[in-house]
Amino acid sequence: MKERKVPTWVSAPLILGAFGLLVWLERRRPLRRAVEPKFRREARNLAVAAAGAAALRVTEKPLADALTSLVERRRWGLLKLVRLPAWLEVALAVVLLDYTLYLWHVLTHRVPFLWRFHVVHHVDLDLDASTALRFHFAELVLSVPWRAAQILLIGVSPPALSAWQSLLFLSIMFHHSNVRLPLEIERRLNAFVVTPRMHGIHHSTVKEETNSNWSSGLTVWDWLHGTLRLDVPQDAIVIGVPAYRDPSEVGLVSMLALPCGEERPTWHLNGTGPEPAREIPPGHSQQLTA
Ligand SMILES: [Zn+2]
Repeated sequence: MKERKVPTWVSAPLILGAFGLLVWLERRRPLRRAVEPKFRREARNLAVAAAGAAALRVTEKPLADALTSLVERRRWGLLKLVRLPAWLEVALAVVLLDYTLYLWHVLTHRVPFLWRFHVVHHVDLDLDASTALRFHFAELVLSVPWRAAQILLIGVSPPALSAWQSLLFLSIMFHHSNVRLPLEIERRLNAFVVTPRMHGIHHSTVKEETNSNWSSGLTVWDWLHGTLRLDVPQDAIVIGVPAYRDPSEVGLVSMLALPCGEERPTWHLNGTGPEPAREIPPGHSQQLTA
């Protein structure tokens, strides 16, 4: 396969345009009420995102470029065992990358050392398109060996990697966004892809709800693993992590320093209080609700 990546002149305006559209829609049709002033949060999240993008540029990009070319030249990895039409190989690579990202996301929650970093993404007191970009740079660097393994085992070519990266960007901005879609439309979309109401449940302060809905693209992975939760009423969700509820504690500097400090018990309110819990009344809808 020729090294035909998604050109930057296509992916950059697409991603920036989608971000702008979502930010506009969030102001017109918000799904959840904001806790913090929007402009301050967005500026903070974009600053965290800029550090993350710089870290990926110097770590992930050179390695991924080298490994995808190697996969292509030497025909390494699962998808290179047989000769597939180029479009099919890209499509299968995107699906397998999406699945293995599900597994990585589970690890970032289940492995205490990784959670130290992933928690920075979750302590945001609101959830919107800017949260999608807010990952601690060290979490992104820690994901580089996983990415290398994904490329080598799956057999990811340069075009497949760039197609997946562009789709992933669009997907995470969409499902983190605070856009109120018409419920029927969202339910239909959610049969295939992760949507804002579904991912909102993953950002809940209730432990069992955060430990669900780990998919980043296709909904099917949560469904297959029995980790899909749709029955939580949206207006009952409090976004964030119980241990960090004070807006003065989630500023830019404290966010970047969070993994280095003493860790608070995540699920206890302000670190010492009770664990938030929820009883879903029997007979409540198993589908996404308003
Ligand atoms: Zn998460």
